[in-house]
Amino acid sequence: MALISYLRSWALIGALLLAIICVSGGLLALRRPSMADWPRLETQSGDGFGVWFYGTSSLAFVDRDGAFVLDGFVSRPSIGRIIFSRIRADDTLVRRTFSSSGVGSVYAVLTAHSHYDHAMDAAAVVRQFGGEVWGTASTAKIASAEGVAHRLVSAGDVLQAGGFTVRVFGNGHSPGGIAMDDIGDDFQVPAKVKDYRYGGGLGLHLTRDRCRIMVIPSSGMPDRDLAAYPADVIFLSIAQLGRQDADYVRRYYDATVKASGARLVVPIHWDDFTRPLAKPLVPLPYMVERTDKAMRYIMAIKDDDVQVRLSVVGSALQLPAPCNG
Ligand SMILES: [Zn+2]
Repeated sequence: MALISYLRSWALIGALLLAIICVSGGLLALRRPSMADWPRLETQSGDGFGVWFYGTSSLAFVDRDGAFVLDGFVSRPSIGRIIFSRIRADDTLVRRTFSSSGVGSVYAVLTAHSHYDHAMDAAAVVRQFGGEVWGTASTAKIASAEGVAHRLVSAGDVLQAGGFTVRVFGNGHSPGGIAMDDIGDDFQVPAKVKDYRYGGGLGLHLTRDRCRIMVIPSSGMPDRDLAAYPADVIFLSIAQLGRQDADYVRRYYDATVKASGARLVVPIHWDDFTRPLAKPLVPLPYMVERTDKAMRYIMAIKDDDVQVRLSVVGSALQLPAPCNG
């Protein structure tokens, strides 16, 4: 009897220890790296040309006449909503967010690919500010379901959006992507997250006067030699980059930053997009992403004359001449 109760108490202690290990392991996995020590871009308040960042790969290029938007994903539904409900754009939030960036009218919203964290709000931006949604056939299905104007865009196209010239090229998805096929003909909004399927990826090179900006929205390879698209600034996805080996990161860096000749690298798509933009951007937890490693990789690879600066939200970014001042 004494032996049984002795063994029972050890089993209890063992179970307790296991529970503690599981819980603390879980909590550890939910911790996030800090981005606080990496240098950030300055902001500017001029009323001329301004570039605004909204987390993920969402950017607005705004001048006095209108705006060209990439993705424009600002609704950022919570993890609970993603898992348990169908999602749709928050039109009020879209209106407020872009209005506070000085956007009065929009020429076009280019959707980099049709996963929800790129494509979900594009139609709402057009509904609120005019213009049309640009993107792949999958993006066109979203725009049709939302009842807004759209234009099919393919790699190699050169498009005009007011004073902005936009060259589009193919941009592979970051490794490990899910839902990598096309959106179905029966797509409707509100939609489940899994209904927003990849549909092919696009990157862009944008010029305005002498300013040349490249955006790589996803951490996959471009479909062409980007030496043909010289840029002053590159907005570079680092999504899932910390989970790749050094050889992949080197090839990615060479094919994007080095090929474009950009001297300013602005990492994008590193933030936890299940948190609202009203809160400070934080990286995804360690269990999902290794943003800290991705940043260290880039800093180790970059040439001495290349600066790496994180983007801020809520103000126009101070970019080097000839893009600003
Ligand atoms: Zn994606």
